[in-house]
Amino acid sequence: MTCVQEAAQQDGLVVVGAGQAGGRTVEALRLNGYSGQLTLIGEEPELPYERPSLSKEMLLDDSQETVTWVHDPGFLKNWSVNFESGISATRIDRAAHRLELSDGRSLSYGGLILATGRRPRRLTIPGGDDRRCLYLRSLEDSRILRGRLQPGLRLLVIGAGFIGLEVASAAIRRGCAVTVVEFADAPIARVAPRALGENLCKEHRAHGVQFRFATQITSFISADGALLAKTSDGQTLPADLVVIGIGAEPNCEIADEAGLTVANGIVTDSFGASSDPYIFAVGDVAVHFNTIFGRHISLESWQNAQNGAIAVARNLAQVGLMAPYAEVPWFWSDQYDRNLQIFGLFNPKAEAIVRTRADGSCLYFQTEGGRLVFAAGVGAARDLRPAKDLILAQAPVSAAALTDPSISLSALVRELKAKQTV
Ligand code: FAD
Repeated sequence: MTCVQEAAQQDGLVVVGAGQAGGRTVEALRLNGYSGQLTLIGEEPELPYERPSLSKEMLLDDSQETVTWVHDPGFLKNWSVNFESGISATRIDRAAHRLELSDGRSLSYGGLILATGRRPRRLTIPGGDDRRCLYLRSLEDSRILRGRLQPGLRLLVIGAGFIGLEVASAAIRRGCAVTVVEFADAPIARVAPRALGENLCKEHRAHGVQFRFATQITSFISADGALLAKTSDGQTLPADLVVIGIGAEPNCEIADEAGLTVANGIVTDSFGASSDPYIFAVGDVAVHFNTIFGRHISLESWQNAQNGAIAVARNLAQVGLMAPYAEVPWFWSDQYDRNLQIFGLFNPKAEAIVRTRADGSCLYFQTEGGRLVFAAGVGAARDLRPAKDLILAQAPVSAAALTDPSISLSALVRELKAKQTV
């Protein structure tokens, strides 16, 4: 049996999904010397782009687009990447190493990389398909939403996750009246401590956002030009526009139908290989084995789409060279002029250790077995950055040191390095 790198050199590589992870994969393949045939298939009509600005800068200013393209213009052509846009992959024939496309063609592959990302979870309630109910994932979604935001518009945001909160922040600045409805009893409760979410809420309330927690929308009806949202506690909320941000589902149907191991995404090893050694998965659609945490994790973040894809592409570009993708997860969000940073993995069932800083703001930590596994805070990017090294080192850190604002995290890292060199 030839290894995947040899098969890739002989029969080419096909990357499915032309988002950030797919775009970075083809780039890193070429920059790391892969010279075989290379095809990138993307169902969107666009060149690969990054998504973070879609819920931030893009929504603030209707007059100019702030799209972050993955490549410089001409990159794909100059580096002989056959880019097929507006086409989706519909079926994988693993035995024949062929990929079927929506336009009826099929391509053979030596290696296949799935970078199909996620799509918004739909709200399946009566009236939920009204054209005033929007989702936000693609550049086109962002263009439509920003075109509709205007002073006085009553915007109902469903879901107090990152996308919902970022949309709320942008819409308030565009003069909209914003109400956020959330099923849970706190915002971003799945990924960060309750107190941190509540602090963010305070900021939103100060800007005029209304919140309703522990509430669900059960239906929408149209009346007098508005959309009336019925809530689970018997209220009616009138809205001119609704943005639904209730999570994302993996685009892994073709992997599932092909018999690959799938569990809320395509399950891979630490090198990005799926249960088929000739098929890899990167970015949001992958559930990769992270050697730092010793378990499979699924991440929806810029860092994972960027660095995970580069790591997997490097492995595929050269025969014999294999290094795992092993990084401490990092995520950020911008709301108003506040920047939130999250490092590591949050455990919703565990308590957070809180450090109160001189300005009254807080940093939040979690440890497992005395080792740091999670750190987060708002407006503290520089102070928090060393948390990444502390988590990676898996060295014991005391709760006393984490709570003490006079001990900087960088001092803890220095202390750790000094111990390691002794
Ligand atoms: P995607 O970007 O989803 O790209 C997948 C591509 O594959 C899509 O173009 C899709 O159409 C295509 N595709 C799917 N199926 C097929 C098929 N069968 N055939 C062909 N093509 C297919 N992360 C942060 O760390 N910080 C942030 O502030 C932040 N903000 C965000 C804001 C928004 C609005 C969104 C949506 C995400 C944000 N993220 C943020 C997350 C980050 O952008 C994602 O993790 C990243 O885009 C994932 O990249 P990806 O390439 O894996 O998937």
